[in-house]
Amino acid sequence: MTITFDLTGKTAIVTGANTGLGQGIATALAQAGASIVAVGRSPMEETERRCRAFGVDFHSVQADLSTLEPIERIVSEAAEFGGRVDILVNNAGIIRRADAIAFTERDWDDVMNVNLKSTFFLSQAVARTMLADEAGGKIINIASLLSFQGGIRIPSYTASKSGLAGLTRLLACEWAAKGINVNAIAPGYFVTNNTEALRNDPKRSSEILGRIPAGRWGEPDDLGGAAVFLASPAANYIHGIVLPVDGGWLAR
Ligand code: NAD
Repeated sequence: MTITFDLTGKTAIVTGANTGLGQGIATALAQAGASIVAVGRSPMEETERRCRAFGVDFHSVQADLSTLEPIERIVSEAAEFGGRVDILVNNAGIIRRADAIAFTERDWDDVMNVNLKSTFFLSQAVARTMLADEAGGKIINIASLLSFQGGIRIPSYTASKSGLAGLTRLLACEWAAKGINVNAIAPGYFVTNNTEALRNDPKRSSEILGRIPAGRWGEPDDLGGAAVFLASPAANYIHGIVLPVDGGWLAR
């Protein structure tokens, strides 16, 4: 048996690919040979430039995943562009910070809608196409350390990411025998917009850094290898895991 991480000829949807971890993941999948469908609210010029540098095709879909409205359009545009969707990376996500005692319904719903509800229904729509042609595929959810831990001042984020770990396991159980691998990656503390407030708080920032065995925050490129691995044939017998990429945080 040949072990391969090659994604040549595959088409991957990556949500929230205009910045941060989504941009890093899209770039890594492109480097491994996949054509990229980048989904998000904002322009994708930088992501497109990085992906095309590896000679792959690139298509962007303007979509706001705070509602289910764009789901069918994303899947049909991706299928038209790539022939079929082989890989889905559910990366788009938001965070709202406030004490639990004062947390608003708005901050609850906004986070749950993007991080959990749209992720589920986009996975469902993509899986329907994968099941229809019986060629299988890979679904990768971007979870969090808050899939394992409680955190503070981020109740809807923790609920959404803990829920996403459970959803990953449920979908893996339903679809594993049908050739779809559903797994998650749990990034540790990475340098992106998502963690800007933490990094700007000197006390929290040094507390976090002091707990990371690797001795540094993650950079978006640090996540690419895990995404390529889970998207590749090398992971064909891996179902329902939440893979930490955290500089050793959870080992502490
Ligand atoms: P980021 O803010 O740079 O990226 C978030 C992405 O999601 C952006 O591309 C944004 O446009 C997109 N997005 C947000 N709301 C959207 C919507 N309504 N419709 C479409 N796209 C939307 O932050 P990031 O750190 O790169 O976050 C990416 C993912 O990684 C998120 O799911 C986040 O929860 C997760 N994560 C990040 C860290 C970290 O340390 N940075 C740690 C664990 C998990």
